[in-house]
Amino acid sequence: MKSTVTAKVKIRKDERLVKTMRVYSKALQFCIDRAWNNLYTRKSIHDECYYKIREKFGLQAQLAVCVISQTHEMLKNSPKNKPKVKKFATIRYNFSRSATIKGEWEKLSLASTDGRVKVELNIPGCYEEYLDRNVRESNLILKNDMLFFCFTFTKEVDINPFSFCDGGKIRGVDLGINKIAVTSDENFYGTNAKEKRIKWEELRAELQRKGTHASHKRIKSMGKRFNRYMTWMNHNISKKIIDKLDEGDVLVMEDLTNIRKTAKYNEWVHKWAFRQLQNFLEYKAVEKGIRVVYVNPENTSKKCSKCGSLDTERHGGFFECNNCGFSLDADLNASRNIAHSYTETIGRAGSRRSAYGSRVYEVETFNTGRIETETTRKLHASF
Ligand SMILES: [Zn+2]
Repeated sequence: MKSTVTAKVKIRKDERLVKTMRVYSKALQFCIDRAWNNLYTRKSIHDECYYKIREKFGLQAQLAVCVISQTHEMLKNSPKNKPKVKKFATIRYNFSRSATIKGEWEKLSLASTDGRVKVELNIPGCYEEYLDRNVRESNLILKNDMLFFCFTFTKEVDINPFSFCDGGKIRGVDLGINKIAVTSDENFYGTNAKEKRIKWEELRAELQRKGTHASHKRIKSMGKRFNRYMTWMNHNISKKIIDKLDEGDVLVMEDLTNIRKTAKYNEWVHKWAFRQLQNFLEYKAVEKGIRVVYVNPENTSKKCSKCGSLDTERHGGFFECNNCGFSLDADLNASRNIAHSYTETIGRAGSRRSAYGSRVYEVETFNTGRIETETTRKLHASF
């Protein structure tokens, strides 16, 4: 089993890197414009754009390859709306092609439009234990006029994946707006979050109506406070959920990669908060030897967890099945369906692997405003 951690490290703001980001962003937009509604495979984008972007933007070969991969991914993730690239897009670096570490993690050397740029590295102490891991793909980001480099470390964790399949508890988690998390063993977490959120949204709307400079400033600082509150809440909830599980158990969650398709996760605050909660659950689970599995979110809130019928109704937070008459809390019903999705998959021989979807996190979705801490930790488990 592989575990992955992302470390966000502040680096010196070298103008050559900033310039590279600007050029990279332009190349990315150029590529997207060319490929939009026209090129669908990575190879066709490469064939059409590679030499053009190298020539037109003077990008180093490895960076040009990254532009193409990123174009392909962005188009795949946004099939309806053409993606618009920010002025300073995140650059994806590859170890050891476009980025290398010098010495004992003393310096970082990055490809730029003006040759290699070397910057000093000061890795916060909390990441030291990860430095013996392999560095995988990593990102350079510009936020609030500061440059950050996000290292992604991977390590083989000594857990036998097949020891999970029998015997351990299988727990489904449903993430929601009114109750932050509901688990299939009938535990409810963050049930007072709704009031907090509504109060916050009302106050924000009121300040927005005012539209003064002061009210905008107030919205910003309130947003930061709300984010801190959600982070604290997510730490708490994830700890409580994991405390109830033991080594060898399985935690089942919905795969929110295609988050757009799921109406309940539509608001911005939920997107990052849910991903954050999943991240926290993941790393706490992996550290304890609990396996994390993602399942397709389709029908989890519509299906009856008792008889499997889709002929069901919802009355507020309550779920009712027209087929068998079963009724219970709607989120609890969903969490049971999530757990079932996993047991169904392992029941079918041969399809086992498909249930263990791996996920990739985007840096932007984790922080919404100011960077909360430089020690943002993300973990992603797969094998
Ligand atoms: Zn039913």
